Amino acid sequence: MTARKIFATTALPYANGNFHIGHIMEYIQADTWVRAQRMQGNEVNFVGADDAHGAPIMIAAEKAGKTPQQFVADIAAGRKQYLDGFHIAFDNWSNTDSAENHELSKQIYLDLKKAGFIETRTIEQFFDPEKNMFLPDRFIKGECPRCHAKDQYGDNCEVCSSVYSPTDLIQPYSALSGAKPVLKSSEHFFFKLSDPRCVEFLSEWTQDGVHVQPEVANKIKEWFGVRTNPDGTTSEGLDDWDISRDAPYFGIEIPDAPGKYFYVWLDAPVGYLASLKELLNRRGEDYNAYMADPALEQYHFIGKDIITFHTLFWPAMLKFSGRKTPTKICVHGFMTVNNGEKMSKSRGTGLDPLKYLSLGMNPEWLRYYLGAKLNGKNEDIDFNPEDFMSRVNADLIGKYVNIASRAAGFLVKRFDGKLGEMSADSQALVAQLREQKDTVVAAYEARDTARAVREIMLLCDRVNAYVDANKPWELAKKEGMEARLQDVCTTCIEAFRILTIYLKPILPQVAAEVANFLIVPPEFFNDVDKPLGKDHQIGEYKHLMQRVDVKQLDALFEPPAAPVVEAVLPGGEAIAPTITIDDFAKVDLRIARIVECKAVEGSTKLLQLTLDVGEGRMRNVFSGVSSMYQPEQLQGKLTVVVANLAPRKMKFGVSEGMVLAASHADEKAHPGIYVLEPFPGAQPGMRIH
Ligand SMILES: [Zn+2]
Repeated sequence: MTARKIFATTALPYANGNFHIGHIMEYIQADTWVRAQRMQGNEVNFVGADDAHGAPIMIAAEKAGKTPQQFVADIAAGRKQYLDGFHIAFDNWSNTDSAENHELSKQIYLDLKKAGFIETRTIEQFFDPEKNMFLPDRFIKGECPRCHAKDQYGDNCEVCSSVYSPTDLIQPYSALSGAKPVLKSSEHFFFKLSDPRCVEFLSEWTQDGVHVQPEVANKIKEWFGVRTNPDGTTSEGLDDWDISRDAPYFGIEIPDAPGKYFYVWLDAPVGYLASLKELLNRRGEDYNAYMADPALEQYHFIGKDIITFHTLFWPAMLKFSGRKTPTKICVHGFMTVNNGEKMSKSRGTGLDPLKYLSLGMNPEWLRYYLGAKLNGKNEDIDFNPEDFMSRVNADLIGKYVNIASRAAGFLVKRFDGKLGEMSADSQALVAQLREQKDTVVAAYEARDTARAVREIMLLCDRVNAYVDANKPWELAKKEGMEARLQDVCTTCIEAFRILTIYLKPILPQVAAEVANFLIVPPEFFNDVDKPLGKDHQIGEYKHLMQRVDVKQLDALFEPPAAPVVEAVLPGGEAIAPTITIDDFAKVDLRIARIVECKAVEGSTKLLQLTLDVGEGRMRNVFSGVSSMYQPEQLQGKLTVVVANLAPRKMKFGVSEGMVLAASHADEKAHPGIYVLEPFPGAQPGMRIH
């Protein structure tokens, strides 16, 4: 059998945050599949990358006071601890802002344009007149046109779940500046998915039973038919895809279209190819030659939320730019915790992968548990702590690990670690284990690791039944039973070796440790047919795996005692983004004497201050500190005032500046506001530098 050539990827995580458990689940699923391919002797290149582009990253970087490139690099630097921590072995990890991706994305676009699949159209869009930019849907807020809930996003309502377009919002405002957005027209580039060539190709490609799972194909089928739009109108067939965004945008500039950038979803999947190209370049291999091989298989592992991009846009982009189309899109569901509570980082629920590792929990427990649950279908899976503990402790350790620990001790103590002859009944048991090789391999191939684990655990049951029937601990006490004891223990070790090979894609670390102790590396599935043989000497058995402690699970799901920011920063809010000295110089802070201080009639909050700022005139300032101070406490004191703040007209008069005072971000939980006072010697009018 010739080795298959395979190129495999996982979905690109958006580079605006750390990995969550959903990412880790997908990577473990793909990593397990890749390892199983390699154990069949197939050649696999397994790559990932960060999705670096788009408005949300541009805006998050601006908030953090970083360039987008620096922002993405800082996120990327945090990836390794997760990947290494869970034994996820990508051959390359890149990001979509790489030179390779810029070049490939432009080339694919130009090829599509040449083939007649690109069109420009003028569309109307919301524009933020203060930020001077077109607003992405998620940055426009307003009143829901259906249920009239306030502060809803531009694309859907979180209260009534309606989907609409940003222009439907009542009293829209920019979430960036608060400004009222204006409608502005702009020329956009479209990929003509409605082209009959696309429709014909995709209706065949998605429905031929080859490229997507049946349950996914059924879902896609709906998109080709008649459907009702949010505005009540109906559409048929596929809609064209808007692939451009206007500057300012962090992305790849469209060739011959200054100020226009590819929408992030155009260049993100090209990142799969770019990361592969980077890997091959590094090894001195030829990317074009590699991709030109008709036997090359291309697998993408993705979540169910991004099916459209990977089963319509991506294959069409590849097909009509004259490139190889994917072999298979492998879709998985979401992970929930404790029956259906969807993993949400923002709500602070769920399973934090770094916390899992920091508690000293074994990464292979999670790999095994996910392996036992994932069946290759587009279905959600649930992480249940009790189920987790029972599968790891009772199945993985109780049924599998214990086989080795029950047999190895007798062999080392009584037979110098040497294996003996196997009798006919022992041979028969081992043969049953070997016979299941094709079943196990087929289950891995179909990503049905749940079935692989089930079959392997059934084999473990048979081995344990054999041990219980032969009772080596009793044989060890009886005279004249040495040969049978060595036979039974040898059989256990051979069975354990075969089971370890079967579990190796899921448990790479355990397999490596077993290899050390058996003193032979289990490399390929076919090695199950190569027994260690009589007189092979095994090494000393070291315990392979601890049991899950319920205390670890309790700690894993214990909510943090207080929000992290509050623990670190007693003020209740993070430090604002970095500014330059020039930014600071714009604020003119002066020493002021509080010449007079009065209560304000009709206000429980304000005090009215008359301030001498050394200008030869007095200023009138209102300050919201009356909850803390009686007027006479402040009168005559020095303080600090923002002297160049625009005058503000208030209900009680004009305020000509702002007195500095300290308070906690959460005023309700931590009441108190404290006026600043300079050290002695400062005089009214002195500037603060
Ligand atoms: Zn609503």
